[in-house]
Amino acid sequence: MTASTACDILVIGGGIAGLSLAAEVAARLAASRQSASGQAAAGQNRGSSGGVVLVEAEPTLGYHTSSRSARQLIPSYGPPVIQHLTVRTLALIRAAEADLPEPVLAPRSFLLIGDEEPVRDRASAHMHPVMPAEALGLAPELRPEAFSAAGLDTTSVACNTDALLDYHRERLTAAGGRIVTGQRVQAARRTGSPGRQRWEAAADGMRFEAPVVVNAAGAWADIVAEIFGARPQGLTPYRRTAAVVDVERPLDAGAPMVADAGDRFYYRPEGRQVLISPSEREPSVAEDSRPRDADVQALVELVNTVTTMGITGVARAWTGLRTETPDGLPAVGWDPAVPGFFWLAGQGGYGFQTSSAIAELAAGILLAEGVENGAREALSPARHQV
Ligand SMILES: Cc1cc2nc3c(=O)[nH]c(=O)nc-3n(C[C@H](O)[C@H](O)[C@H](O)COP(=O)(O)OP(=O)(O)OC[C@H]3O[C@@H](n4cnc5c(N)ncnc54)[C@H](O)[C@@H]3O)c2cc1C
Repeated sequence: MTASTACDILVIGGGIAGLSLAAEVAARLAASRQSASGQAAAGQNRGSSGGVVLVEAEPTLGYHTSSRSARQLIPSYGPPVIQHLTVRTLALIRAAEADLPEPVLAPRSFLLIGDEEPVRDRASAHMHPVMPAEALGLAPELRPEAFSAAGLDTTSVACNTDALLDYHRERLTAAGGRIVTGQRVQAARRTGSPGRQRWEAAADGMRFEAPVVVNAAGAWADIVAEIFGARPQGLTPYRRTAAVVDVERPLDAGAPMVADAGDRFYYRPEGRQVLISPSEREPSVAEDSRPRDADVQALVELVNTVTTMGITGVARAWTGLRTETPDGLPAVGWDPAVPGFFWLAGQGGYGFQTSSAIAELAAGILLAEGVENGAREALSPARHQV
């Protein structure tokens, strides 16, 4: 019989969503224990049976979508609630940077190019129109005939996502939280007497017990929901490919990310190389997705047509899954029908840029602290489970 690991909150999924939330909750629990006991509770909690446990199916954290992003945070990107969460996330990361050895964020503008109408449609408080001549000044590799309108978001930043994941991992363990990798949660049941109920979850070789489970399983979140008897959100994982290519004429290190308003491509400097993506949105099953040579070659041809950078070869390519709910907004909050089951899923293409704000919101709901950042209703999982 396998021994059971008991905790207050079991977080399933070790991507940016699960890690940022687990760290936030563990830090708050440690702080409240510390103030309750008047002692240095965080250190004493290490290895205790309570607190937060994060379980990840893969041998390493961030193996799936969270290690495959373009690492850009764009306040003008997405619907208003996403833009709101992005601005809040930037503020929270900037506050955290004060305690970090090096910054997580670095300036990198976002330049949108294309035809007049789709560029105009993306205008927002963070995206202002610029003349094509100004756009060419910022991105001289663009061929002038490739676009007729442009918009610029100067508040956009590059994000060192590895450093951000490390920050959350260290914050979680410093607060006494525990991380278990290589364990896929496969089965669950609700046990205990009324008022003292808890989940028993079985993974590959381990068992977990917790009154509360957080579903941060990315592309697998609907599958995890079924394991816990919850109705799915109707999540769809969409493929998105990226590649790092060698070029004849490297972009300026301070060059913006350039994106086509028609969603045919985007690119940005990656050292002396260039990161490119076809911006595709192709439905997939939940899987360890892989790039297709034909897609990457078609993208190389397109980028060579609209720019003068001169791609000479593909250094590496990858594909990740951007998982969306039917309305494209994340699902964050208690399941409306299954007690002790909390959703943290459907971050789509905004998982990093909304991460700290969503972790803040989710921790407030989970710990019943009444914290509100204006997105609770819009993200409620109840909207997809009528
Ligand atoms: C090419 C590309 C570019 C992108 N660019 C950006 C960008 O510039 N900015 C931005 O903000 N976002 C971007 N994104 C989106 C962002 O990467 C995602 O929104 C984010 O990584 C999702 O994080 P997650 O934690 O929800 O999912 P994941 O990172 O996939 O984590 C979920 C984890 O759950 C685990 N899991 C699943 N089932 C179980 C189980 N039963 N038991 C235990 N563990 C389980 C999985 O193994 C996985 O590690 C991009 C995505 C792609 C693909």
